Amino acid sequence: MTVRVRFAPSPTGMFHVGGARSALQNWIYAKQQGGVFVLRIEDTDAARNKPEWTEGILSALDWIGIERGSYEGPYFQSSYAGEHRAAAQRLFDAGRAYYCDCTREDVQARTGSQYQGYDGFHRDKGLGPGEGRALRFRTPDEGETVVVDLIRGEPTFENKNIEDFVIARADGSAVFLLANVVDDMTMGITHVIRAEEHLPNTPKQQLLWDALGVKPPIWAHVPVVVNEKRQKLSKRRDKVALEAYRDEGYLAAAMRNYLMLLGWAPSGDREIVPWSVIEEEFRLEEVHPSPAFFDEKKLRAFNGDYIRALPVVEFIAACQPWLTGTGTVAPPPWQPEEFDPAAFAAVAPLAQTRIAVLSEIVPNVDFLFLADPLIDEAAWAKAMKEGAADLLDAAIAAFDALESWDAESLKSTLEAVGVERGLKLGKAQAPVRVAVTGRTVGLPLFESLEVLGRERALTRLRAARVRLV
Ligand code: GLU
Repeated sequence: MTVRVRFAPSPTGMFHVGGARSALQNWIYAKQQGGVFVLRIEDTDAARNKPEWTEGILSALDWIGIERGSYEGPYFQSSYAGEHRAAAQRLFDAGRAYYCDCTREDVQARTGSQYQGYDGFHRDKGLGPGEGRALRFRTPDEGETVVVDLIRGEPTFENKNIEDFVIARADGSAVFLLANVVDDMTMGITHVIRAEEHLPNTPKQQLLWDALGVKPPIWAHVPVVVNEKRQKLSKRRDKVALEAYRDEGYLAAAMRNYLMLLGWAPSGDREIVPWSVIEEEFRLEEVHPSPAFFDEKKLRAFNGDYIRALPVVEFIAACQPWLTGTGTVAPPPWQPEEFDPAAFAAVAPLAQTRIAVLSEIVPNVDFLFLADPLIDEAAWAKAMKEGAADLLDAAIAAFDALESWDAESLKSTLEAVGVERGLKLGKAQAPVRVAVTGRTVGLPLFESLEVLGRERALTRLRAARVRLV
């Protein structure tokens, strides 16, 4: 039997990091088993679907390493409406489903509770299809449904606790529970690896598999992803869109490595490992069933490690979207013609060790490309205290007199200026740094001054001094 897995997102919003995690787990499982990964876009909720969300899913998958052309699909659930209706009809014809025109209020009035499920009122009323009539599955009164789950053992559900659930609407269209099962059957899916949120659907869906006479798949419900408060990551509250992480400058390699650590770890107390190790060592059965904490701080630290591990040329290449404002990233504050690749290359190694996400490159180097630095007023107020004017005067004079404009000479010069005023180098640097870069923190100052060049550096120092008058 060839293993066939599927990733079945609904294109109703940005691509959730939890979805990316499930996609990767499916992808690796298929690879390990010599199987097939199928992408199915569950686009039957016409009111919420948009084609751009589908495109977003495809490009986010590309980015994370599941590339178009290397999997089967995408199939679109909406193209299988005929199969869904036919399955509903088969269930009705076989007496496994019946029509019902109860409203929610009807059921509540009868059961006296808004929490109790459907009471089976129309089970044996023999209604045919018609206006306002949904099709419900007749769940068995007895026995239990045992779900074989690679992560959770054998969750067991008593059939008598499963209500007669709706499988098709009055217009004949199938609801998610049925459409999803029919598609999995049609596509020959053998293993359903999906988020834990769907576990309550699983006994119902397995009953549908049984009723339709097909052996159910093996299931694997991967843990829900939670924030630091142990709340399920939500679109409204948390940063969940894979695209947002991409545009902020997380590296795909760091992201996918991190996502695979949600509920699982490679051998030997390691976290950062080559992807090939993850592909080799990952075991779906080893995924921990309890909620997995998506720790953005840890991901950031991870990403910083990945950035530092890049060869400088690759780092420079990776920064380009943020330097040029291409694609979906925010444009930099400078004009394209102001950008100087040689100056960037000169400071790139210094920046590489200091940033955790690639977008942070921009505030670190903008002073090099803008005609005037972007002055952070809080930084200015902090650095330009008493004595700043005098220090700047002395620094301007001493720098101006330098024969060679290099980091080392600049440093020893400013050191001497500081010593004359009883200031440590750090203190002496502050006004100079703010005058030249606009900020109190940034790349090493003297290298920055060297790359900026004598004329531009002195012009900025003089401008700052004028402002202090
Ligand atoms: N379309 C469903 C979702 O996005 C997936 C269902 C499944 O994986 O079975 O939650």
